[in-house]
Amino acid sequence: MVLSTFNGIINIMIIPKKIIRSKRKSIALVVNSEGELIVRAPYYVNTSTIMGFVEAKQNWLRRQCSAVVAAKSKFCNITMSEGDIVKFLGEEYTISLCDVDNIILYGTYIKVPFAYSCAQLTAWLKEKALALLQKRVSYYSIVMGVLPKEVKISGARTRWGSCSFNNNINLAWHLIMCPLAVIDYVVVHELSHISNKSHDRAFWQRVAEILPNYREQEKWLKTNRKLMEVL
Ligand SMILES: [Zn+2]
Repeated sequence: MVLSTFNGIINIMIIPKKIIRSKRKSIALVVNSEGELIVRAPYYVNTSTIMGFVEAKQNWLRRQCSAVVAAKSKFCNITMSEGDIVKFLGEEYTISLCDVDNIILYGTYIKVPFAYSCAQLTAWLKEKALALLQKRVSYYSIVMGVLPKEVKISGARTRWGSCSFNNNINLAWHLIMCPLAVIDYVVVHELSHISNKSHDRAFWQRVAEILPNYREQEKWLKTNRKLMEVL
């Protein structure tokens, strides 16, 4: 990046990190998840033309970069410091280190005893996840007329839920950070696998019968995947 001042305001000129040439016919600008600009361009377009194009798109590029920065701060790692954000059922709670014996949700704060470790917060969240997920599984088992063999809470950071060949259901404890509608979708998804192990048309039809808006929750899970890595 090149810094320049304009009317006393610092303007950041966003320049390409990489220019990738190929047989394509047009120039494409992509801001990746690191906030770097990657340019794809045809072989026959020279570098000064590319730079002119990049310069003309500066306002758009700045908007893209600030969206990346905002997305990154949304998933800050929890370090048990005052002010850290903990998500619980889709709501944000700010960590306040207090003289308390146990973790308490208080307004928009999560009061945490001094010197509590990440492992202790994880244990608390896991306990809440287990209690809630068991209730939601029981409820939807009745609604859907299916019975899972066993329900376990997992620490997997790669998947929100799974259903084994033997109908054992695993649900990630990180789900407790998600809104209830999202939790319900994962529960319904895995319970639907009891009678159908594939993701065929009939499977999605079954999910839609129970939760007609399931696509919204599916999309939420995709854009919030990084939640599984904050703690
Ligand atoms: Zn599935």
